[in-house]
Amino acid sequence: MYHVIVVGAGHAGAEAAAVAAKAGAKTLLVSSNDRAIGALSCNPAVGGVGKTHLVKETDILGGVIARCADMSALHYRTLNKSKGLAVQSVRTQVDTQTYGKNLKSLLSGIENLEIYYGFVTSFLTKGPKITGVKIGETEILCENIVLTTGTFLKGVIHIGEKKIPAGRFNDLPSNKLSDFFHHNGFSVGRLKTGTPPRLDGKTIDWQKIGLQPSDKDYEPLSVFSKKDPSKRFVHCGITRTNNKSHDIIRKDLSLSAVYNGALSGAGPRYCPSIEDKIYKFADKEEHQIFLEPESLYNNAVYPNGISTALPYETQDRFLRTINGLKHVSVIRYGYAIEYDYIKPYELKPTLETKKIEGLFLAGQINGTTGYEEAAAQGACAGLNAALKSSAKIADFPRERTYIGVMVNDLLTKELTEPYRMFTSRSEYRIFLRCDNAYQRLLPLAQRAGLLEKEELRSLKKKYKIYAYNKEFIKNYRPDLTKNGFVKNSDGKNRTLAELTNDQKNHAPILATMKAFDFYDSDISPIIVSAEGYEPFKKRYLDEYRDIKKLKDTVLPTYMNYEKIPGLSNEIRFRLSKFRPYNMYELSNIEGVTPAAVALILHNIKVNAHAFA
Ligand code: FAD
Repeated sequence: MYHVIVVGAGHAGAEAAAVAAKAGAKTLLVSSNDRAIGALSCNPAVGGVGKTHLVKETDILGGVIARCADMSALHYRTLNKSKGLAVQSVRTQVDTQTYGKNLKSLLSGIENLEIYYGFVTSFLTKGPKITGVKIGETEILCENIVLTTGTFLKGVIHIGEKKIPAGRFNDLPSNKLSDFFHHNGFSVGRLKTGTPPRLDGKTIDWQKIGLQPSDKDYEPLSVFSKKDPSKRFVHCGITRTNNKSHDIIRKDLSLSAVYNGALSGAGPRYCPSIEDKIYKFADKEEHQIFLEPESLYNNAVYPNGISTALPYETQDRFLRTINGLKHVSVIRYGYAIEYDYIKPYELKPTLETKKIEGLFLAGQINGTTGYEEAAAQGACAGLNAALKSSAKIADFPRERTYIGVMVNDLLTKELTEPYRMFTSRSEYRIFLRCDNAYQRLLPLAQRAGLLEKEELRSLKKKYKIYAYNKEFIKNYRPDLTKNGFVKNSDGKNRTLAELTNDQKNHAPILATMKAFDFYDSDISPIIVSAEGYEPFKKRYLDEYRDIKKLKDTVLPTYMNYEKIPGLSNEIRFRLSKFRPYNMYELSNIEGVTPAAVALILHNIKVNAHAFA
């Protein structure tokens, strides 16, 4: 009997299995086959603005995505370098040929974790409680399941007018599991996404296009990875579509499933197909394409920015109009995929379903898109599935973590397109940064036993350096005549912390700090930049306390919102649909006004039982 069975070894599944096993649960990871482990269905990269924040948090929880990306890295780039620390993030392009192998080797080294190859056809249940999985005729018993089947539930691929039932290219869909949700009364929706063609790099004229090298001074994604000076990095190319390409696409729009009405599900607005770009931004004369080599071991190139569902022949024609691609050969054509997802208001904040006890869902099945969003949900669901037998839960507060932002958004907002993380989704983004992810998550990781001794030691060492640096910045008053500090006209001596208000002082502050042995070339510059956020901290802490009070007001499960006088029908409808767990979740539901929150608070304080 397993404590946790994880179904699917993609990006949510790998993290769920790693974290559940590290938390001490006897865990089985079921993967349909060896090549499915960590397969990168779309772009060969991990990270991005907001996405890297999720990856860093998952890393501290014992997750594997950041470590695997560093092991497989081909190219690093810090995004938003010219902007504030809170919105900067490292994006790592990875080798698609080694990523899955590295992931398998990381998972194989985890105690309590076994891998089993098979395709789950149904679940075993006893009343509303999960008891195991069925793989063909084989039954395997367990206490909890984390289901992470991505785009596989009733997946259908579209290329031109062709429709192929598939979980993704070359993989069968998982239709029986989808039926399970329909039969058990879950709200199920349809979403779509797409991928560009893969090009043969040998047929690209690299001389004709702009090249973008990897950052030399890169920061690894994982706080536990070391920089590897012998690592070989690749350049990316940059090219553009043009009027000729646009004419070809425009003429054949009606042949694309994205436009001819064959797809009912909504797609990601921020990652539109090239058909969408041409149709919606008709006045744009070109669209940028990044040509990203996928591996050191083959010639495949991912043209980032031209996802498409046009017929093969149209794809060939429009590609060959693009600078550098005149003689290009396609290795695999682009396609769109439509699939079932489970409406996430069916879930508790632990990602366990409200209807079936012991069944947790994580990843694209919950309506998100992206490896990072999937991985972070995997960590949350895996940890909570592992903790369930001890009746504990791992709480991810929205005001402390991006994992919490994502889970709270999923549980309280209607999805109109696949959910992707952005830093703008967090109202506390200046405090939820990549650089302090380990401080925010370490207490939870420690309590749950997710990190090895050596990992804890290295984090504690970093923490100590951080504390010394911070203390020094707070108290030290430098000689303002030295090192080029910007002086105020009042001539008062100021602490380094006070001087951080002016960006021009950052270099002199670091020059002052370099003379002391606690100076760290990675940590000190970050602390100096982050100091500028300190004046906003009081308001954040005050709000944090108010939020905690709302969270402590747990709502009775029997709550009948029809009986609360004064609520609009629209708000009653939404509350009955989302069934929030506590007042904080309730106050976040789209369309619920502050007046409605006050009214409900007042009514439940007077007599909660009256609303059964
Ligand atoms: P996956 O990584 O897909 O993993 C699901 C796993 O479940 C697979 O390994 C599968 O074999 C396994 N599985 C399914 N059914 C069963 C079963 N019954 N038994 C056992 N195993 C099973 N993301 C972006 O960020 N940007 C993009 O542009 C983008 N484009 C995409 C285009 C396409 C065509 C696809 C398919 C995905 C795209 N994605 C994109 C999404 C990205 O690939 C996913 O968000 C991410 O992989 C989701 O992770 P997951 O773990 O939920 O699912």
